[in-house]
Amino acid sequence: MTLLAVSKTFPVDAVVAAAAAGQQCFGENYVQEAVAKIEALGRLGLDWHFIGPLQSNKTRPVAEHCHWVHSVSRLKIAERLSDQRPANLPPLQVCVQVNLGDEATKDGCAPGEAAALCRQVAALPRLRLRGLMAIPEPDPSPDRQRQRFAQLRQLRDTINRECGLAMDTLSMGMSADMEAAIAEGATIVRVGTAIFGGRT
Ligand SMILES: *Cc1c(COP(=O)(O)O)cnc(C)c1O
Repeated sequence: MTLLAVSKTFPVDAVVAAAAAGQQCFGENYVQEAVAKIEALGRLGLDWHFIGPLQSNKTRPVAEHCHWVHSVSRLKIAERLSDQRPANLPPLQVCVQVNLGDEATKDGCAPGEAAALCRQVAALPRLRLRGLMAIPEPDPSPDRQRQRFAQLRQLRDTINRECGLAMDTLSMGMSADMEAAIAEGATIVRVGTAIFGGRT
């Protein structure tokens, strides 16, 4: 399992300190902030994951600077990332984000659309489809947290079977629900405040 340290809103110094303690993978939500940190810290050889909402006019810097994108929720975004991925870099690793509860305000494709989107993303030449990502609505009940994460795992397994894919990644779990996510098979947990402290 990979611990992704979500460093959004925290300064470069906080990333340097975590890297010095052995942390390799960092997550960012905002394109400008991500690019600024990646350029400032290029010498450290860290892995950068873009996990925030991505608009089509902001895909190029992400395709050029990041190693992973967890928040692919539309084909158009995936196509642009594939087209814009520089030829001298390995394929961009991506997850399809699923809106498990079909909440109106959340990003991500509907669960019923995920299989078709995965099949299309998997066919793009400069992307490598790794799995699914979700941000379930906050819920204090560990049982209900687990149900949501189990739903994402089952969806991943079903899509793999039905589409002949080999997605190996479940990006799920944050500071408040990472135990439940790990119990349900998370392969990447995205943890911010539990590592860096509260965001202002
Ligand atoms: C901010 C954020 C996280 C980390 O949340 P914490 O509650 O600080 O652990 C994880 N995933 C996404 C997509 C985020 O935006």
